[in-house]
Formats: sequence, C-alpha cells, structure tokens
Amino acid sequence: MTEAHKGWVVIAGLGPGADRMVTSEVQEILAEATDVVGYIPYVERVTPRDGLTLHASDNRVEVDRATHALEMAAAGRRVVVVSSGDPGVFAMASAVFEALEAGSKAHPDWLDLEIRVLPGITAMLAAAAAIGAPLGHDFAAINLSDNLKPWELIEHRLRLVGEAGLAMAFYNPRSKSRPHQFERALEVLREACGPETLITFARDVTKPGQALKTVTLAEARPEMADMRTVVIVGNRDTRRVGPYVYTPRFAPGHQPGQAETAKDT
Ligand code: SAH
Repeated sequence: MTEAHKGWVVIAGLGPGADRMVTSEVQEILAEATDVVGYIPYVERVTPRDGLTLHASDNRVEVDRATHALEMAAAGRRVVVVSSGDPGVFAMASAVFEALEAGSKAHPDWLDLEIRVLPGITAMLAAAAAIGAPLGHDFAAINLSDNLKPWELIEHRLRLVGEAGLAMAFYNPRSKSRPHQFERALEVLREACGPETLITFARDVTKPGQALKTVTLAEARPEMADMRTVVIVGNRDTRRVGPYVYTPRFAPGHQPGQAETAKDT
C-alpha cells in the first residue's frame, strides 16, 4: 500500500458476521497489517498469525482506541481498526476522525498519515436482503442508544421520521441498561406510523441462529429486540408477498411509468 517504513491506519468493516461477507479488499488489508485494533468480539473474528498483534479493547473506549491506532501508525505500524458491518455506520470511522481532529493539534504529523476507510455490509442491508426489500423506498437509519445523544432527541427524531413516511432501521435497539426506552419507542412509532405498519426483528443476521420475525407495530413487544437485533420498520406501504416483506419503489399515487421512472431498476 505504501513504502514499508511508512505507517497507515485503515478502518475496515467486517460485515454482519458471515466470513463470506468480508470483502476481499478487507481480507487483503488484514494480510498486510502489523496491528489490529477493535472491540473484543470483532478482533476475535481476525485470524491470528505471526507478525500480527491483536489489540482487543472493551466497548465505549472508541476514541482511546482510535488514538492508540494513530499513535502506532505515526510510529510506522500498519494498523487496521475493525468494526462490524460498515465502519462508517455507528462505528469506528468517525471515532478515528474525532481522534485525528483532537490529536493533530499536538501531533500535526498525524495529518500526513495515510488513513483509509474500507466499507462493509452493514446490518440493516444484510437484514433487509434476508427478508426481501423493506428499504426499497426512502428510509432513515437511527441508533437507539442514548450513550451519545439524549433520549428526548431520539424520540423527537422517531416521531418526525415516522410522520415523514420514511421506513427506518434501528441499531442498538434495546440493552439491559435501558430496558424501557424501546417500549417507549414502540409507542411513539404506533402513533407516528400507524399500528398496522410492519416491523421486522432481525437477530444474528448471517450468523448461526439467524432469526427473522415480522409483525405489525400493534403486535410488537419490547422483548422481541436486544443488542444482537437490528429492527426495520416499514413505511405505510410496506407489505408481505408470500414469505417476503417489501416496500414498493414508488410513493402511493406515483406508479412507475406515470412520472419519470427510476433508471436503476
Ligand atoms: N457498524 C455496524 C453497527 C454497529 S452498532 C454495522 O454497520 O452493522 C451495533 C448494532 O448493529 C447492534 O446492536 C445491532 O443492532 C446491529 N447489528 C450488527 N450486526 C448484526 C447482525 N449480524 N444481526 C443483527 N443486528 C446486527
């Protein structure tokens, strides 16, 4: 990638879980790395080998981990920071740039480091593909964790996005430390989207034990989600056909062929 003495940082997505969903680009960069940095379960997905040091850290230390990666790269190491799914979706890519912005004041040389982001298949896209095409029209991706933003803001966004008629994908939907918030989220969604709107709970997508369950918002229960679940709420047109769940590409009243049709079909 660069001369051997020059360090770099690559922030790479490992995909939703299945080995075959790790891109070949990411496999190649892991083969070049001297160091892998990340949250424990993600680092465990990297095969150990001679010459590769694995630095697994606990959750919620993203900026420390990112700073460590930049320090090692500045010292000439070839560092891969791993995330699950895509590294730009509620994951380490932004944390590395936060650390770069904060740390480059004291270490201006960090701005000359080669830093690259390699995309991966994010959970909502793997889940959507597993059930059909629920994200085939406009949608929003929302992190339901209140770790980095207040719950009031999350509720406000859920209501506005639901009222705007977008489908939604929720990451980090329900943890043991905040068991009641997802219950509240479901109440807001029933009001904003209507009780008959379909909601899919996709757990351990592409992993052994993958489980997919689609119900209406009226039938949805908070226990159907946990931190290994990505949740997809359709728009008012999202429907079932046979065993599949899909959202038509067009808004009601705008059948394909009437207006300009999408080119990419
Ligand atoms: N960067 C990751 C998301 C990290 S946030 C990505 O792009 O997928 C962690 C959340 O992602 C989990 O709480 C869960 O909501 C979702 N998630 C990640 N992998 C998943 C999988 N295999 N099945 C279901 N949900 C998953």
